Amino acid sequence: MTAHYAVFGHPVAHSLSPRIHAAFAKQMGIAMEYVAIDASPADFASAVSAFATVGGRGANVTLPHKERAAALCSQLSERARRAGAVNTLKRVGLQWHGDNTDGEGLVRDLTGRHGLDLRARRVLLLGAGGAARGVAPALLDAGIQELWIVNRTPEKADALADALGQPDRVHTRYLADLPNLGNYDMIVNATSAGRGEADFKLPFRLAEARALAVDLSYGEAAIPFLAWAQAAGCEPRIDGLGMLVEQAAESFAIWHGQRPETDEVYAELRAHADALHTA
Ligand code: NDP
Repeated sequence: MTAHYAVFGHPVAHSLSPRIHAAFAKQMGIAMEYVAIDASPADFASAVSAFATVGGRGANVTLPHKERAAALCSQLSERARRAGAVNTLKRVGLQWHGDNTDGEGLVRDLTGRHGLDLRARRVLLLGAGGAARGVAPALLDAGIQELWIVNRTPEKADALADALGQPDRVHTRYLADLPNLGNYDMIVNATSAGRGEADFKLPFRLAEARALAVDLSYGEAAIPFLAWAQAAGCEPRIDGLGMLVEQAAESFAIWHGQRPETDEVYAELRAHADALHTA
């Protein structure tokens, strides 16, 4: 019998998740339908409930619903609780269980695919939304030395730091402080500011020589930050495509108990993205 899965977002038409999960299902020989469902913030809870009514077994949750999804769950994994954000819903009986695979996805991409060592890094994290909340605990668990969080809305950076609960390693600063901060050997852009829209300017001196630069977004949205990172001398510079594939594989494993192999899907999406950029 075909099982029903979905990704909820707003907007969501651009999402690559249906394509990724279709490839995983084919690879693993599992019959599943995976669709994109656009739900506004006001409609999110009722859309998830309607999905359960028609037999929905699991879902991914993307921008801007991750914190809202956590509130719908009767049970949260430890990493979803620490993040205060859910990107993976699993139907268990009449309830939703929530997990967050974003951080695991990022760390697997950086340490596995790219072979990077994250231990002892001083990390500047730009943003404190759902994605930042997902990746921050995983970066700390991966052994980074310090995490400095800067967000347009400072209260959200403070709330994330409080939730992480490691005041000796986690610090927050205002956007206005950016010119006065030290330098970092890893800078992560977890804002959703699109092409040239960021409400801040990043001084080049934030990046140590050959600092690792990561943008959690991909495609056109990643261009401004990665261009800044190139000009600042960052090396390597990595977009969020690999994280996207890895977090999807983690979600797939939560639903089906088996983790798919990711290299082929990643290579296919990368080739597609590169073709779009050179077109
Ligand atoms: P949210 O809406 O939850 O958070 C958005 C964040 O961006 C907030 O910190 C917000 O600041 C900040 N922001 C938005 N616009 C601006 C701006 N103009 N200037 C400065 N800061 C801004 O989104 P998510 O956290 O879910 O997503 C963030 C990014 O990460 C997106 O690009 C998304 O595509 C990507 N992502 C990638 C994943 C992957 O697998 N590769 C997985 C998840 C997300 P404020 O709090 O002040 O509003």
